[in-house]
Amino acid sequence: MINPHRLSTQLLRHLYRHSTRAFAVHCVHTSLFAAYLWFELPLTIWGAWLAFALLGGFWHWYRSSRALRHITEDSIKGDSIMPDVIAAGVAGFSFGITAILFPLLSLHTCLFIFVMLSAIAAAAMPRLSTLPSVYAAFLFGIMAPLISILIVMDSEPSLSTIPAVLIMGCSLFYSARQLHSDLLDGLLSRFGLENEAGEDKLTHLANRRRFDIVLEQEWLHALRSGTPLSLIMLDVDFFKKFNDRYGHQDGDDCLEQVAGALAQSAKRAIDLVARYGGEEFVVLLSQTTRDDAYTMAERMRQAVERLNIPHQDSTLGHVTISLGGYTTFAGEDMKSEDLVKIADKALYRAKANGRNRVVWYDPNLDGTNEE
Ligand code: GH3
Ligand code: MG
Ligand code: MG
Repeated sequence: MINPHRLSTQLLRHLYRHSTRAFAVHCVHTSLFAAYLWFELPLTIWGAWLAFALLGGFWHWYRSSRALRHITEDSIKGDSIMPDVIAAGVAGFSFGITAILFPLLSLHTCLFIFVMLSAIAAAAMPRLSTLPSVYAAFLFGIMAPLISILIVMDSEPSLSTIPAVLIMGCSLFYSARQLHSDLLDGLLSRFGLENEAGEDKLTHLANRRRFDIVLEQEWLHALRSGTPLSLIMLDVDFFKKFNDRYGHQDGDDCLEQVAGALAQSAKRAIDLVARYGGEEFVVLLSQTTRDDAYTMAERMRQAVERLNIPHQDSTLGHVTISLGGYTTFAGEDMKSEDLVKIADKALYRAKANGRNRVVWYDPNLDGTNEE
């Protein structure tokens, strides 16, 4: 049996491993900067800059190596990603701050620093992109002082450089996200969870097994990052009667079409639409607020209605779905399975209230809420 905690653990190991080597590289980069700046800066400014650059790198290393010790084989201690994000931001800033010195430096030194900062931002990607928010903080730490000084210098060449810097930042972050998803796929494969094994044969959506793993994964992420997690359970209305009238083959075709409509409604790469079993589906929306998830559920309901598949034995005349949803901030007092149970309660309510509708679980009323 595969323990889903191992996936998160492996991701964090990937982030923290080689942190000593990364600190050594940080020192080499800093020395290169120091050698260039030595000839052009007063000693006090040079010394202050060097101390800051080394301290920033040191703190990042200290944080990573301490965190690594807290990862046991299958679980992670500590529940917030924020210290990692801040440490990466400070490490990036300890390089980025060098750009503040541009007005004091010759053009060729400025160019050297500019190219070096780009190289450093790219070189950090393989390790830090393990958690995209950590890489974003590092990138921001480098880019923010660079862009600020280009604005302050207010000269034609400096202002026209800004779009290039922004494009570079966006491209790097986009690549980091790609790397992150490749890494995740690699880890899933390593644990024997190749995509095919996680795919439902009829609908080509994720199957229940894959959903269970990803749910656990996203739950841990939500727990660490403090972001909301939404889940929608949905079920085809009067589907037994559909099978009885039109036959099992048409039933299968109908399920395929419904699955296609659901998959098309979920636009983001991180949204997971899975076949939970039979004619029940589930949609996991990480980092998604209640309102956005509700809108998504309503979009799915309408998409299935628009398929306009005839169903004479349905009170509604065509195939429809009922949806129940729940949004929460993951907490220690809950388990990921509770998310499914609560969304299922809301689904039950949607059925009882007449089907072909979305019902959202409202924790304040400790019941369900229909809009
Ligand atoms: P409700 O509106 O309350 O959901 O009514 P229902 O008839 O949809 O609910 P019920 O759970 O009683 O029936 C579900 C039916 O779905 C029973 C089963 O024959 C059918 N079903 C489950 N999996 C498949 C499948 O893979 N293919 C086909 N064709 N039918 C399936
Ligand atoms: Mg059912
Ligand atoms: Mg049903």
